[in-house]
Amino acid sequence: MEFLYTYRVTGLEFPLVEPDDAKFVIVGVPFDGTTSFKPGARFGPTLIRHATLNLESYILDYEIDIAELPIADIGDVSIVSGDPKKTADRVKETIEEVKRINSEALPVLLGGEHSQTLGAIEALEPKSYVVFDAHLDLRDSYEGNPYSHACVARRIAELGIVEAMFGIRSGTREEVRFAEARGINWIHARDYSFDAFVELVEPLPEPVYLSVDIDVFDLPLVPSTGTPEAGGLHFWNVVEAIEWLVENKKVIGFDIMEVAGKSLGDPTALTGAKLLFYFIGAVGRRL
Ligand code: MN
Ligand code: MN
Repeated sequence: MEFLYTYRVTGLEFPLVEPDDAKFVIVGVPFDGTTSFKPGARFGPTLIRHATLNLESYILDYEIDIAELPIADIGDVSIVSGDPKKTADRVKETIEEVKRINSEALPVLLGGEHSQTLGAIEALEPKSYVVFDAHLDLRDSYEGNPYSHACVARRIAELGIVEAMFGIRSGTREEVRFAEARGINWIHARDYSFDAFVELVEPLPEPVYLSVDIDVFDLPLVPSTGTPEAGGLHFWNVVEAIEWLVENKKVIGFDIMEVAGKSLGDPTALTGAKLLFYFIGAVGRRL
């Protein structure tokens, strides 16, 4: 098969399988062309893969070793420099190709800017979009670009996909009005609780796509993300939500976006890698 990757960096210490035989297929998208504050998300996929070297593949509280699970890593999508739409189209093509060769595969996108989630959504066509993010991302356009990271949830809503957002603490009046008009529910970071999460997500139509913009976490966990915001969620808040979601809903795609940094071992990447292991573990312990 032909993938659009530019290079393959596994980082993962344990044996990987070919995508044909995999349950999890990792795809990187090293794009940060519309980042408005702190660039560096283009290094996100590589930094996450490297950060996995620091982690034990055995997950203590699940009592499973994810090194025994069928995981593939097909490398990074070849980006179109400065063009979030054309790059997202390549993400879409790549994930469609993964699904063509293995319909059972669960794509896991590592980013890279949040703008690139649109490509995964277009490929997988979920009914619901569950997102953890500091930001609403509901702008119609940002700095003249409708495909900016700040517009991704708006573009997804326009596809008729139901949205639920958690950990929000940044947005404009216009974005809040759009959410109200479209019936998009979101929970502010200071009001977040597991019960509030379940209440909002339980009635959502399936299948579900789950997106984690790493800036949902509080600053010390993610200091290098592109648009950091104080007052974020704790690590276990998101892990518990993932556990509930994979147990109670059909989840067809997952991403960890906006990981960035300029050096190996950046805390932002360590947070992303740990979350990746918990997602794989939460799904894997049910296989
Ligand atoms: Mn975002
Ligand atoms: Mn964000």
